[in-house]
Amino acid sequence: MSIAELTSLIHDARNIVAFTGAGVSTESGIPDFRSPGGVWTRYDPRDFTFDRYLESAEVRQNSWKMREDFLAHMPQPNRTHHALALLESRGKLNGVITQNIDDLHQDAGSRNVIEIHGNVRDVTCIGTAPRNGVPAGCGFIERHEWVFEQISAGNLDPICPTCGGFVKTATISFGQAMPSGPMLEASQLVEECDLLLAIGSSLEVFPAAQLPLDAKAAGAVVVIINRDPTDMDPFVDLVLNGEAGEILSRAVH
Ligand SMILES: [Zn+2]
Repeated sequence: MSIAELTSLIHDARNIVAFTGAGVSTESGIPDFRSPGGVWTRYDPRDFTFDRYLESAEVRQNSWKMREDFLAHMPQPNRTHHALALLESRGKLNGVITQNIDDLHQDAGSRNVIEIHGNVRDVTCIGTAPRNGVPAGCGFIERHEWVFEQISAGNLDPICPTCGGFVKTATISFGQAMPSGPMLEASQLVEECDLLLAIGSSLEVFPAAQLPLDAKAAGAVVVIINRDPTDMDPFVDLVLNGEAGEILSRAVH
């Protein structure tokens, strides 16, 4: 295990793809949603499933409140975000696939960011009667400010101005289907890369757990950078345990 090894892998690579998880955001001060002090200690996650959202105006109002809390304390990108943006600007990195919803990769200057769990920037129409966790919206999309303007004007449960459907933050809720477009883009990126960096993810759940294996199967070198060991460690080429920002800022400069 050495940072010099990572530096040399990055040097030799021509098509790097990064996959980032919650561990990347925690260094910017965003607590993992489930950890002490995290959002879920103040809100009950059982209230925020996709189905509950459709059923209850109260759940919708609570989730706007939670979103406002989250956006009021927007943190700054950290060394990991900056290192990845730098690699992209040098033409070494083809894209970032992220489970994070916080926009920090874009804030750092990354351009090709695939958000498999959605994002907190936008709200979208999910239609009047989505089935099986699959949004069925009309395509209406707005910045979050639109909702907060509606709410402060007294419209506490805003609906889509185009079709009358429900509107919801463009993040993926519990019980909501993963979006097929971003998933497809992510697997294409992974298949074409020659170096996959899996950063700040415990790689425990689908599709995260699958990505390093897919990259290996497609012939890429795979590196895991995470605070703790993961179950995928035995299957990859290099594992670096520690603070991702520290490791990447030393390997990329
Ligand atoms: Zn609509």
